[in-house]
Amino acid sequence: MPELPEVETTIRSLKTKILGRIFFDVWTDFPKQIKRPKSFNQFKKEIKGEKIQNIWRRGKNIIFTLSKNKSLLIHQKLTGHLLVGKWTFDKGAWHSEIKGPLQEKTNSYIHLLFTLDNGQMLALSDLRKFAKAELWTTRDLENSEAMKKLGPEPLEKNFSFEKFLEALGSYLKLKRKGKIKQVLMDQNIIAGIGNIYSDEILWRAKIHPFKETSKLKKQDLKNIYRFLKDVLKKSIVLKGESFSDFRTPSGEKGEFDSIRKAYQREGEKCSRCKNIIKRVKMGNRSTHFCPKCQKL
Ligand SMILES: [Zn+2]
Repeated sequence: MPELPEVETTIRSLKTKILGRIFFDVWTDFPKQIKRPKSFNQFKKEIKGEKIQNIWRRGKNIIFTLSKNKSLLIHQKLTGHLLVGKWTFDKGAWHSEIKGPLQEKTNSYIHLLFTLDNGQMLALSDLRKFAKAELWTTRDLENSEAMKKLGPEPLEKNFSFEKFLEALGSYLKLKRKGKIKQVLMDQNIIAGIGNIYSDEILWRAKIHPFKETSKLKKQDLKNIYRFLKDVLKKSIVLKGESFSDFRTPSGEKGEFDSIRKAYQREGEKCSRCKNIIKRVKMGNRSTHFCPKCQKL
C-alpha cells in the first residue's frame, strides 16, 4: 500500500503536472469506487467544470481542493496509483498513447479516468480495486470524522519528540496495550505509516516489532522518533518504494529499494549483523525484523 512517502511523491508530481487544470469529463467501469456521492452520474455532474486549485496530502489521503468550495479525496488503498498521461480506449481497456513506463502492465488497470481541459488525463490504475474516490464540500471534509480522527503529520515541523510522546500516550491511555509496530501503523496515532515503513523504522531503531509500547525506554522512543522522520524523508527523496504496485504519476518506480533493510527481506542477511532477517505474522500482516539486532 502506498504510504506517506509514496503519497507525498504522488502529490508533488501531480502539482507540477495538473495544478490549475479543469475537470472536463470522467469515466469509470467500476462505479463502486465512488463512495460519495453514491451515484456516479451525480459525481460526474458535480465534478465537471471544477478547477484544481491545490493538491495536498493528509496521511495517505490525496486531496484536490477544487473551485466552488469542493474537495475531491482519493485514497489509493492497496494497489491504486494515480497517473497523468493520454490514453485511448480500445477493446474494453485504456492504452497509453505515451510510450515508456505508462505502458507497463502495472499501470494498465485503469478503472477511473478523468479528462482535463487541455486534453491531458488523470487515471487511477488499481489492480485490486480497493481505492476510493469521494467528492465533498470542503467544509464537510474538514469536519468529517475520518479527517478529525487522523493523528499528527510526522514530517511537520511542529511534530517534536514531545508531540510524538503525546500521540503515543493518548493511545496507551485508551488501549493500555499495544505492540510498537501496531501503534506506528495506527493512522489515528500518527498519520501515514504502514507496513513497509514501520518495519524499516524499527530495524533502524533496533526495536523488536512485538515490543509493548508502554515498556519502551526513553532512549528507544528517541531512536524510533529519529528514524521515523529520517526514513520517511529519505524515501520521499528517493520517490518511494519500487517492489510493489506503486508508481509515480509518470508511471515510474521509486528507488527506496536501494536503502530497504528489513521489509520483505526474509531469508536475507541483515546488513548490520549478518544474521538472517525473519518474517512473522502480526494479525493479518507480515512483519520483518532481525532477531539479533531487534531483541524482544
Ligand atoms: Zn541484525
